[in-house]
Amino acid sequence: MPTVKLPDGSTLEVAEGTSVAEVANRIGPRLARDAVAARLDGKLVDLGTVLPPEGEPALQILTGKSDEALSILRHSTAHVMAAAVRRLWGEKVRFGIGPAIEDGFYYDFDLPERMGEEDLERIEAEMGRLVAERAPFARKEVPLADARRLMHEAGQWCKVELLDDIASSRLEAGEEFQDADAKPVPEAGGRVTLYRTGDFVDLCRGPHLPDAGRIAAFKLLSVAGSYWRGDSTRPMLQRIYGTAYFSKTDLERHLARLEEAKKRDHRRIGKDLDLFSFHDEGPGFAFLHANGMVILNAILDFWREVHREAGYVEVRTPILLSEELWHRSGHWDNYREAMYFTEVDERPFAVKPMNCPGGLLIYRAQPHSYREFPMRVAELGLVHRHEKSGVLHGLLRVRQFTQDDAHVFCLPEQLKDEIVGIIGLVDRMYRTFGFEDVRVELSTRPEHSIGSDEMWEHATGALRQALEAKHLPYKVNEGEGAFYAPKVDYHVRDCLGRSWQCGTIQVDLAMPERFDLTYTGADNRPHRPAMIHRAVLGSIERFLGILIEHYGGDFPLWMAPVQAIMLPVSERTAAYGREVAGKLRAAGLRADLDEGSDKVGAKIRRALGRKVPYMLIVGEKEAAAGTVSVRDKALGDLGAESVEAFLGRARAEVAERRLRPKQEALGAAGAPEA
Ligand SMILES: [Zn+2]
Ligand SMILES: [Zn+2]
Repeated sequence: MPTVKLPDGSTLEVAEGTSVAEVANRIGPRLARDAVAARLDGKLVDLGTVLPPEGEPALQILTGKSDEALSILRHSTAHVMAAAVRRLWGEKVRFGIGPAIEDGFYYDFDLPERMGEEDLERIEAEMGRLVAERAPFARKEVPLADARRLMHEAGQWCKVELLDDIASSRLEAGEEFQDADAKPVPEAGGRVTLYRTGDFVDLCRGPHLPDAGRIAAFKLLSVAGSYWRGDSTRPMLQRIYGTAYFSKTDLERHLARLEEAKKRDHRRIGKDLDLFSFHDEGPGFAFLHANGMVILNAILDFWREVHREAGYVEVRTPILLSEELWHRSGHWDNYREAMYFTEVDERPFAVKPMNCPGGLLIYRAQPHSYREFPMRVAELGLVHRHEKSGVLHGLLRVRQFTQDDAHVFCLPEQLKDEIVGIIGLVDRMYRTFGFEDVRVELSTRPEHSIGSDEMWEHATGALRQALEAKHLPYKVNEGEGAFYAPKVDYHVRDCLGRSWQCGTIQVDLAMPERFDLTYTGADNRPHRPAMIHRAVLGSIERFLGILIEHYGGDFPLWMAPVQAIMLPVSERTAAYGREVAGKLRAAGLRADLDEGSDKVGAKIRRALGRKVPYMLIVGEKEAAAGTVSVRDKALGDLGAESVEAFLGRARAEVAERRLRPKQEALGAAGAPEA
């Protein structure tokens, strides 16, 4: 008799031929209604899966509450979209791939005619019909050769290519299959699985919903060109993006957030506030304008202050270094594709993609003793990485950026305390920028790695103990560390609930060896130091992009390009406005003056558009009393104040690096939905 082990530890015996859906029904009608798919001994399966007659597999029914369920829903919706496109365009459609992605799904189509935004509505309507019909997802396991014949006869060249790759097991290398659920995988004995929805048959590993009727809320978002397998030498397909949720409320909330994200797009705000630009003369290289530099320098001043206080020293290493160095560091083997090369005096050189090797040459330039440890050496290093042109995205994905690196050299027994210190520093910096919702992940030893068991245990243990000493909850990613290091990654959530990976702490087990780093121990003999790499903000340029979107351009006073602007009511008070602006500048504030002959209302609107935190309105009354009428961009009218009182207010806000009032509220309201 088939038996399954349930998550609560109990076992359930059922009749032969029982499906997962029937088990769900046995447990309770509510579970049966909410069930989406299941995990059978860890493997994702359809609800229609029949339980094996032997053994006692663990069964976990997935409901709409889990992330996995959401991704199954979205992948299923991608199939329904493909089925709708098949209905509308008939047999001439060729299908690429259609995975679930973060926040949604896509499908790539090869069609003789171009689809436009107006087609999305038609497709949505057809999808609605498939949902109303409760079109089933029918799974079928067939020999690979049969699937190939079927796809070949239907002219589905993408699928034929995928099947050929599966047959020659080349597919594993295909990096375009970012979503494991979308990856067609051969079953035992050269068999593959097909899923049919309406007239659309896909090569697919599944699992899927039992039928389209479970799709409660979906929306198609955009259509864009996309090269087959991300390769610009292959045909251009048309990719439709969409999203799906288990409830209409969740979908509406997501769409509202997308709207808000559009308003906050850092590329748009960057142009409006004259912060940065990109030019064809340097694709992927950001040009920072004067206003952008003010913000960047404020971030760097803060960064240096925090690091000085935490006992770091700062160094700078060259951007061009001999190619031989990159062979020694291992970057040539693992990172060559993303590096730029050149020649100097007929000797091959590379532009640094990372700062570490340079930092190690500095370490090796002097003999070291255990008495110097821990050594905390920071570098705001300018690195270049050749990102593919298709992934470049404003400041968020650039080819040149400043990494806020640091290397800590210490005794193995000092590792834990050093990591505790780094965690404290990261926490202080994120809080100052207003990121309260921070997730931490610990990635452990991967299958292919260097170093002894003992080294890995010690290094991973130090990270673990430090996280526990700081009472930081963390998720463990088993086997996902770098081949040379276990690591802790930081993900910060912005006010729209989006997560960004920023900081990282890695205990390096390779570099000290490769570069033969030594120190003299208390025993007067040479030893290998322990080494930590860490970054807090990651790429400063990218962090600036994240901040622009997080704040919606409303920077805290300490970073704002213009902190206060004088708005004289008429020409008669312009001189007084100029005088106060001079006083503010002399006191170290970034003050501006709007001297034009416009009405004060127009001046206020202009200042609001420039997102200046303080507007100081001066009419004859203020000029006579030596005051300013303070208008806070976030709080509105604050009344009249002496120039000294305003200066005191502004200086305190800058010195304490306070967040702007509205931004604090946003942090609380922007809680993630899932
Ligand atoms: Zn699929
Ligand atoms: Zn490093």
